[in-house]
Amino acid sequence: MQNLQPERLVLAVSAVAAAEMVFELTLRYCRERSAFGKPLAKFQHIRFELAEMATEIRLGRTFVDKLVADHLEGKEVVTEVSMAKYWTTEMAFRVADRCLQLHGGYGCCEEYPIARAWRDLRITRILGGTNEIMRGIIARRLGL
Ligand SMILES: Cc1cc2nc3c(=O)[nH]c(=O)nc-3n(C[C@H](O)[C@H](O)[C@H](O)COP(=O)(O)OP(=O)(O)OC[C@H]3O[C@@H](n4cnc5c(N)ncnc54)[C@H](O)[C@@H]3O)c2cc1C
Repeated sequence: MQNLQPERLVLAVSAVAAAEMVFELTLRYCRERSAFGKPLAKFQHIRFELAEMATEIRLGRTFVDKLVADHLEGKEVVTEVSMAKYWTTEMAFRVADRCLQLHGGYGCCEEYPIARAWRDLRITRILGGTNEIMRGIIARRLGL
């Protein structure tokens, strides 16, 4: 049981790192790919998509960085680790899904790393304790 906390924390760190990676490659893609005579990044909808994803990723990193520091200081972080595991893995998959959409059909082609990242991120909502179990832990620790 003691090993579960570091494992879930590592999953949260990995999820934020993966979200940052797929975001960076999508940002590059949206600057390079043109449709209707201009880069994707110049369309308002796409700019808003990217702005929202950047915000979610930053929120995740801020939370996880603080949590890692607290864990290393020996603080009791069981509730927060469950929060981080479920939220960051769902955030990373949500980001990967939106990034895949911004790639259009190429997002489903193996030549583009987003295709595999989307597939690989799905499992993170299951392993290390499913995200339903994480919600159960949080609820229990809320005294419910
Ligand atoms: C790639 C991969 C690597 C893995 N590596 C390891 C490893 O190294 N070590 C290890 O020990 N395990 C490992 N696992 C196992 C992993 O931890 C389990 O798959 C995971 O905990 C879910 O258990 P389960 O597959 O038995 O699903 P089940 O427990 O059968 O769950 C099925 C569904 O029911 C839901 N559910 C179950 N119980 C409840 C409940 N009480 N309340 C609400 N919903 C519930 C689950 O959330 C899920 O959606 C790995 C799994 C994968 C896919």
